[in-house]
Amino acid sequence: MRYVSTRGEDRGSGFREILLGGLMEDGGLAMPADYPRLSTTDLTAMRGMNYRELAFAVLRLFAGDVPERVLRELVEKTYTAEVYSNGRAGEDAEEITPVRTLEPGVHLLALSNGPTLAFKDMAMQLLGNLFEWALTESGETLNILGATSGDTGSSAEYAMRGKRGIRVFMLSPYGKMSAFQTAQMFSLMDENIFNLAVRGVFDDCQDVVKAVSNDLDFKRQYRIGTVNSINWARVVAQVVYYFKGYFAVAGETGTPVSFAVPSGNFGNICAGHIARMMGLPVRRLILATNENDVLDEFFRTGVYRPRGTAETRQTSSPSMDISKASNFERFVFDLMGRDAGRVKQLWRQVETDGAFDLRGTAEWAGIGRFGFVSGASSHQDRLETIRRTWERYGVMVDPHTADGLKVGMELREEGVPLVCLETALPAKFAETIAEALGRAPERPAKFERVEELPQRSVVVEPDAGVVKEFIRERVAG
Ligand SMILES: *Cc1c(COP(=O)(O)O)cnc(C)c1O
Repeated sequence: MRYVSTRGEDRGSGFREILLGGLMEDGGLAMPADYPRLSTTDLTAMRGMNYRELAFAVLRLFAGDVPERVLRELVEKTYTAEVYSNGRAGEDAEEITPVRTLEPGVHLLALSNGPTLAFKDMAMQLLGNLFEWALTESGETLNILGATSGDTGSSAEYAMRGKRGIRVFMLSPYGKMSAFQTAQMFSLMDENIFNLAVRGVFDDCQDVVKAVSNDLDFKRQYRIGTVNSINWARVVAQVVYYFKGYFAVAGETGTPVSFAVPSGNFGNICAGHIARMMGLPVRRLILATNENDVLDEFFRTGVYRPRGTAETRQTSSPSMDISKASNFERFVFDLMGRDAGRVKQLWRQVETDGAFDLRGTAEWAGIGRFGFVSGASSHQDRLETIRRTWERYGVMVDPHTADGLKVGMELREEGVPLVCLETALPAKFAETIAEALGRAPERPAKFERVEELPQRSVVVEPDAGVVKEFIRERVAG
């Protein structure tokens, strides 16, 4: 498989070359030069596979330059019942992403049974193992620098802890994360994990990361990298569970199934788009946003207008509080018939005019063939959905999953099975659960007393110089 950029660059890069990287050199995102197409025979053969077998079958199509034996080992080490062990009573951990049927034709696909109770573990755990292998092979080391308001940072730390050749420096806003999130991250005692609590808000953390990364000499000398959501390996690892979810609910191969996806950076649903392009019989990709509805606006109107930080609202589904969806360019590349010149022009327009508008174009007229539909959800909707799901089905869902469920139920079609992706467990969002249900959420047993564990972190000022010095003291340049 060769990878090209959404902005036109084609250096014939393989999977291994783009594995550790972020943006391509021309500022675009990596995309496979073409999608592997699966026939009905291929799909029928995949039907009986367990999660590890499916992951290998899908990933080998995209990672041809990773030796098959290695890929199989990495997948087998990643997707184990032990790692994905936080499911509810009665769920089979061997399934990795078990399906729970709420009512005939409506299902939840549990993607949040990994170490940090959110779906980001599905990809990040594989990334940790892939990175460790690639760095060992090349004899290099990597220092991951990131900013987090909770989910991504903890997922990255749990994926990279104890990995050879990797250190993680994670900035978070001091005193601003929930007690649970703080405990989850700060209780890690691994020597390669460094938690820096920044006196400031999340944006200050992000500014510091940007400032450090913009110092190219420092970045090179101290081998600074990231694990952000545009990483291609993260996207492709997520393709696997669309197959798993499909086979779990489709009576026979060929039956169309729709997926409802709570969306922020467009990473999760982008994986669904790729599965569909590969020939998985996905009917609708139902995109759900919260009050930050940039993506819903696009799919309803054809206008893409990313918001500034000031216009981005803090909501009770915080992992979807996103102003510009970093993976969205991947879909637009396909929508534009893979015309990188057009994509480049559209993003230039976003920079100059703050938006682009596809109304009146042939591409917008033909968007229906990609299966996307969308809707948005509010705080009140979330509370009602959490309440209704609990009362009707005895299932507690988190606020993000509730956004997906709400929009999914509105846009489902008679006779088409609907799979709603569960992107976090309710335990992570106790406040909203209490508001909706008047009780505390259930917690997986091993997190019962996580707040009581000893914690390790360093408080720092929001200053790039201080953070650089901290890294310098711990990394030989
Ligand atoms: C990250 C996240 C999302 C949004 O996923 P994207 O890939 O950014 O669209 C939704 N729900 C939860 C719980 C998340 O952590």
